[in-house]
Amino acid sequence: MGLKMNPIPYGKQHITNEDIAAVIETLKSSFLTSGPKVAEFEAAFAQYIGSKYAVAVANGTAALHISCMALGVNASSKVITSPITFSASANCVRYCGGKVYFADVDADTVLIDINKIRKLLESHPIGTFQGIIPVDFAGYPIDMQAFRKLADEYGLWILEDACHAPGGNFTDNEGVIHYCGDGSLADLAIFSFHPVKHIATGEGGMVTTNDEALYKKLKQYRSHGMVYQGDSALIENHGGWYMELQELGYNYRMPDVLCNLGISQLKRANEGFNQRQAIAKRYDEAFANTKVKTIIPKEKFSHAYHLYVIQVDDRKGLYDYLRTKQIFAQVHYVPVHLMPYYKGLGSKKGDCPNAENYYEHCLSIPMYPTLTQEEQDFVIKEILSFV
Ligand SMILES: *Cc1c(COP(=O)(O)O)cnc(C)c1O
Repeated sequence: MGLKMNPIPYGKQHITNEDIAAVIETLKSSFLTSGPKVAEFEAAFAQYIGSKYAVAVANGTAALHISCMALGVNASSKVITSPITFSASANCVRYCGGKVYFADVDADTVLIDINKIRKLLESHPIGTFQGIIPVDFAGYPIDMQAFRKLADEYGLWILEDACHAPGGNFTDNEGVIHYCGDGSLADLAIFSFHPVKHIATGEGGMVTTNDEALYKKLKQYRSHGMVYQGDSALIENHGGWYMELQELGYNYRMPDVLCNLGISQLKRANEGFNQRQAIAKRYDEAFANTKVKTIIPKEKFSHAYHLYVIQVDDRKGLYDYLRTKQIFAQVHYVPVHLMPYYKGLGSKKGDCPNAENYYEHCLSIPMYPTLTQEEQDFVIKEILSFV
C-alpha cells in the first residue's frame, strides 16, 4: 500500500452537520438543561430500544449507580457481575456499599457464564445474593431468557449493562425477538453515550425499563432525590413553588444540548449498526482459517459490534507492531477482579481462569461505521503479516 494512512483508532465518533445544527439549535433555545429535549430524547431512545420507559442521565456510570439505588442495593447486598467489563459495572455496587462477586466468562463468547453463576448460587445459602449485572460484552447479546429463568429461581433482579449493545438482539425459544435493554426480560438496562459507543454525545447515559415503580425512583435519584410539583408522590404541598426532598439522590442530569445531539445521532443508529455488522463480516471472512481467533455469534444472536475482538498468541507483539503502522488497537479489558482495588477486597488471580486467559490474548481492532474499506484492508493485511 503506497498511500500514507491517517492514524486508525479502535473506535471513534461520527459527527455530521445535522448533529452540529442540533446542538446550535438547543444553544439558542430557552433551555440548556432540564428542558423539552430530555423527554424527547428519552421517548426516541425508548422507541428505538423497544422499552416502555427511558431515563437520561449524565453518563453510563451514573446510570449504573441510580439503577443499583432503585434496586435497593445496600451494605448487606451481594451482587454478581462479569470480570470482563468496564469496571463501572462492578463499581456501582460498591457505591451503594454492596459486595461484588465475579463469575467467570464462557471461553467462546466471553460473556458471563450462566453455569458459573448457578454454581455460585448453589454453593451459598438461599437468599445470599440479590442480583446479577450481566454485560452484553463487545455487543454480543446475553441470552436473557436463560438468565431470567435462573434469576426467578433465586429471586434475583437483573441489571443489564447494555453499553456495548444498542440494536443487538436475540430470538428466544418461542421465536420472539428481544432487543438488548428492551425491558422484556431484565429489570433495568443501562447505556452510555461516550464517544466510542454507538451513540456519541460526549458524556451521557440512559436507563431503560418496563417497570413504572423503578422508573419513578430513577427520575427522583437523577435529580437530588427531589419530588416536584405535579407528582402525586408529594407528601405535603405548600403552593406552586413547593418541591420535596424525600430521599438522598444526586445531580446526574443530562443537559438538553447533549440530548438534542443524541436525538440527531439516534436517527443514524440503524445505519451505523448495519455498517458495524458489514465490517465484522469482512473481518470474519479475512481471519477464517488463520491463526487469528475471532468470536462468531451463535445462530439467533445479532451482535451489535461495539468492539471487534481478536485473540492471538503474541498479543503484546501485535499491539506494538500495529502502533508502528499507526493502527491503535486496544485491550478490553484488564479483568476487573485483578484490579488492585478489587484485589484489596479479596479477589485474586485464579478466581476466573477463562477471563484471565482471554486477557492474555485479546485485542480490539478498529470498528466504527466510518472505517473505510481501504483502511480495513490495511488493518487486515498488517495483522495477517504479523501473525
Ligand atoms: C462505557 C461503559 C460504561 C460506563 O459508561 P460511561 O458513560 O463512560 O460512564 C459502563 N459499562 C460498560 C460496559 C461500558 O462500556
